[in-house]
Amino acid sequence: HSSTQPSDTAGVTASPSTVSTPRGQSQKRTVKDFTFGRILGEGSYSTVMLGTEKSAGTEFAVKILDKRHIIKEKKTKYVNIEKTTLSRLSHPFIVRLHYAFQDPGSLYFVLDLARNGELLSLIRRLQRLPEDGARFYLAEIVTAVEYLHHKGVIHRDLKPENILLDENMHIKLTDFGTAKLVDESNVASTSPQRSQSFVGTAEYVSPELLTDKTVDKSSDLWALGCILYQLLAGQPPFKGPNEYLTFQKILRLEYSMPDHFSPQARDLVSRLLVLGPSERLGAGESDLSAIKRHPFFRDINWDNLHEQTPPNLI
Ligand code: ATP
Repeated sequence: HSSTQPSDTAGVTASPSTVSTPRGQSQKRTVKDFTFGRILGEGSYSTVMLGTEKSAGTEFAVKILDKRHIIKEKKTKYVNIEKTTLSRLSHPFIVRLHYAFQDPGSLYFVLDLARNGELLSLIRRLQRLPEDGARFYLAEIVTAVEYLHHKGVIHRDLKPENILLDENMHIKLTDFGTAKLVDESNVASTSPQRSQSFVGTAEYVSPELLTDKTVDKSSDLWALGCILYQLLAGQPPFKGPNEYLTFQKILRLEYSMPDHFSPQARDLVSRLLVLGPSERLGAGESDLSAIKRHPFFRDINWDNLHEQTPPNLI
């Protein structure tokens, strides 16, 4: 399905040229099969453009990575992780990798187009979400994370910037460059991570990563607590003037909840933002049902979230 062998001299994964495709096609795509429109965004190592597949007229987000830049910045590993991970996943709340191909200068990842941008922008625009909106979006995020964990993937960088919104205002989780594969069949992908000094984003980083550089699935549960807080408060729970002071706050569990949080929201935040990873709600279990059963989610129907109409927030 996917491959990580360095099949070109650059050491950047060359195949597959086609990942699984939506309509069972398996022909190789090239850059000539697409017309490119506006730039949707730019990352440190990539440009994301609107791309239309000429044959069917389907629009995608095409992430274009400059090989020389990636090699120079030693990011080959992360690019390969992103592709390997995405090609294992297929879920309505996770950005799908439709095709991956390359030319001599660039790598191209053809992804689901999330037309409504980042959840972070929505939070900023609204200042904060009403509790029903926060509940709905956290429920979608919990559903996506439950699927990831079931597939042996720890995201490690969950945050509102990495949660995109599609044309129907449902979520599409993205940014799998720092994900970790934890099942046995991917031993090679799991081993080198422990010595890594810091992966993720300061405000959402879990205390265990700061103290003993370990990460497991419950690190994503910590991030869920940070995201729920941010949806309701408008800003993350731990935010200092610099990274060091942010880390100090995290390690001391130094945060407070605004008065408008309901008792159920307060309870859920405080059960996720727990210093001991194994004490977090849902930790050590095979799914996230403990979180789903929490009173905060009492009115959520978990069976068909992606078919529900998201709350009208704007
Ligand atoms: P960095 O690499 O610096 O952490 P990043 O991970 O956000 O940045 P990209 O994944 O390349 O980098 O995304 C760059 C921008 O493009 C994002 O901020 C996002 O707004 C936009 N973008 C990324 N993927 C999509 C998508 N599937 N649909 C729509 N817009 C997207």
